[in-house]
Amino acid sequence: MKLKRICVFCGSSPGSRPEYAAAARKLGGLLARRKIGLVFGGGKVGMMGLLAQAALENGGEVIGVIPRALHERKVAFSGLTDLRVVNTMHERKALMAELADGFAALPGGLGTLEEIFEILTWAQLGLHAKPCGLLNVAGYFAPLLAFLDRVTGEGFLDAAHRSTIMTAEHPEELLRQFEAYCPALADKAEWALGMMDS
Ligand code: AMP
Repeated sequence: MKLKRICVFCGSSPGSRPEYAAAARKLGGLLARRKIGLVFGGGKVGMMGLLAQAALENGGEVIGVIPRALHERKVAFSGLTDLRVVNTMHERKALMAELADGFAALPGGLGTLEEIFEILTWAQLGLHAKPCGLLNVAGYFAPLLAFLDRVTGEGFLDAAHRSTIMTAEHPEELLRQFEAYCPALADKAEWALGMMDS
């Protein structure tokens, strides 16, 4: 599928390994060079700031979506193509979801995990049909992916939905998977009803 913009969730901290910051910069530069717009949380700190900076340096479109409370704390990145200030965290996620054609998570903390998981749940409920994936930099997400296999094995996640969660070690590979993505999946409600019948 043709990707106009990708939303990236990532840490407001840079993390402890240089590979994390390097991956944020690499993804930002790649999106810009491929003429794919970046939608992100609008912050200037940590992985977020590095990602946005790299995209801007390479002439990319960068849209930040930030809640008013954070904006007032002066953590927003200045000089973005567009900064949308919204009232709540919920509004922020809805707008990010609307603006983007796909969703990627880079290493991050609770905020990053919450954001990518919410968008994955919306996918399994059939509320959107956009590609979602994790950039598994230096194996950061490996324990989480193993846990998701356990969730599937224990009967709480449909294997078909598990398999739609893309993972790649390098940004180019994740983009390739996004572009090859073809949405065609029964939603979670149908799967849960099927489990009841079996
Ligand atoms: P975390 O992974 O806990 O560092 O949270 C990062 C995610 O939460 C980002 O994708 C942002 O959407 C949001 N977030 C957390 N802190 C900030 C901040 N200072 N400025 C903007 N967004 C933030």
